[in-house]
Amino acid sequence: MAQAQKITPRAKDFSEWYGDVITQAQLADYSPVRGCMVIRPHGYRIWELMQRALDDMFKATGHRNAYFPLFIPMSFLAKEAEHVEGFAKEVAVVTHTRLKATGKTGTGAIAVDPTSALEEPLVVRPTSETIIYAMFAKWIQSYRDLPLLLNQWCNVVRWELRTRLFLRTTEFLWQEGHTAHVDEADAEREARLILGLYRRFAEEWMAMPVLTGVKTESEKFAGALRTYAIEALMQDNKAIQGGTSHNLGQNFAKAFDVKYQTAAGGLEHVWNTSWGVSTRLIGGLIMTHSDDNGLVAPPKLAPVQVAIVPIWKTDEEKQQVSGVGSQVKADLEKAGLRVELDLRDTMKPGAKYFEWEALGVPVRLEIGPRDLASGQVILARRTGGKGPAPLQGATDSVTKALDEIQASLFAAARERREKNSIRGATKAQFIEFIKDSGGFAYGGFCGGASCEAEIKQQTNATIRVLPDPEFRSPEAPKTCMWCGKPSVAEAVWAQAY
Ligand SMILES: [Zn+2]
Repeated sequence: MAQAQKITPRAKDFSEWYGDVITQAQLADYSPVRGCMVIRPHGYRIWELMQRALDDMFKATGHRNAYFPLFIPMSFLAKEAEHVEGFAKEVAVVTHTRLKATGKTGTGAIAVDPTSALEEPLVVRPTSETIIYAMFAKWIQSYRDLPLLLNQWCNVVRWELRTRLFLRTTEFLWQEGHTAHVDEADAEREARLILGLYRRFAEEWMAMPVLTGVKTESEKFAGALRTYAIEALMQDNKAIQGGTSHNLGQNFAKAFDVKYQTAAGGLEHVWNTSWGVSTRLIGGLIMTHSDDNGLVAPPKLAPVQVAIVPIWKTDEEKQQVSGVGSQVKADLEKAGLRVELDLRDTMKPGAKYFEWEALGVPVRLEIGPRDLASGQVILARRTGGKGPAPLQGATDSVTKALDEIQASLFAAARERREKNSIRGATKAQFIEFIKDSGGFAYGGFCGGASCEAEIKQQTNATIRVLPDPEFRSPEAPKTCMWCGKPSVAEAVWAQAY
């Protein structure tokens, strides 16, 4: 493996830094297809760990996985007016089914066969509401069929001009939940339940504190009644929308004629919800915790939680330290931890440390002959701090360190967020705050779409959420931070990814 390159410091260029961290940790790479990324094994492992945790939560709350087609008839997209408007500008369309040989050589050797044009073009799913609710119409007859709680893990395509690994790519991986309910209250309860799960996942697994709340009309999902979101603040003080949960009302049920017979014998349209998180969360994880030495992965989602690096000079020493290293590895694995034992003899220990650091491994155990003589190993934390730990009971020391790292990452991220949040700012202070440092700005909002648009146009800041009660300021703002009219809700603004 090539010697690790230098990582651009965050303070110098955050965007460069982000790219360097991804490259050094071998998380993802740009692909020959413009706008599309390749997720490399170390990055995909993070996704697998995220999937497992989320999937367990979904299943524990009664959801089941299913799979729907990648292609959607173009006419389906047109059935819900807001929905088509929201996605029309970014869908990929399949119009033909065949290529044919042209008789030429080189890149011109094949061409689209014009005789293979599809009668109805297909769109590559940008999201699956339409195809899923078309099926729901077939499966739902009675109130006894409700609630119907499905989820699918898949890829979606939204044509993007700008690419940023994990944050914005034309194709990305995600899960999309789709449910149907008897009434608004049950759909609302579901949308809220999922928002709570997303928050728990972000905070307990990713150690990424989030605000929860409802999106404004202009920021909600195309076709939804209400959109809820989790929002996190990155180290450059820009926000990232980590996940959304929509109460779709009866919009799609009406468009796709999803009806059920009520207990009383009447016929009603169902109420739907949809909700999703994507590989974008990996971008959020990187930008929440990582430092100038590379990736910092929260222990619960770290592909490798412990790297054991034996140190030796002679063959005899090598045999001794690698023997102990193997034993420690076996013990740690028995405790359910993900461990690597680094026995490469082509690298010096220092270079190995550097590499495991860039990969974001939370705990490193150094095992040298002198440490062994005194019955100990050296435990180094990715987040800083290094000291001896007894060889007997090393598993306990490691487990404790991992728990502490997980907790300290969350605490540090929350402290940073609060330090970079302002409340009750005047218009002038708001403009200065967004321009200078950035962060979450809490303030009164008149509810006016024109006010919202003007703020966005002048400062590039958008309303991330109208926060839930627990995040609101102790005293509700009385006037709109921007126009001075009476405030209808407190809002949180930030520039966002
Ligand atoms: Zn206003």
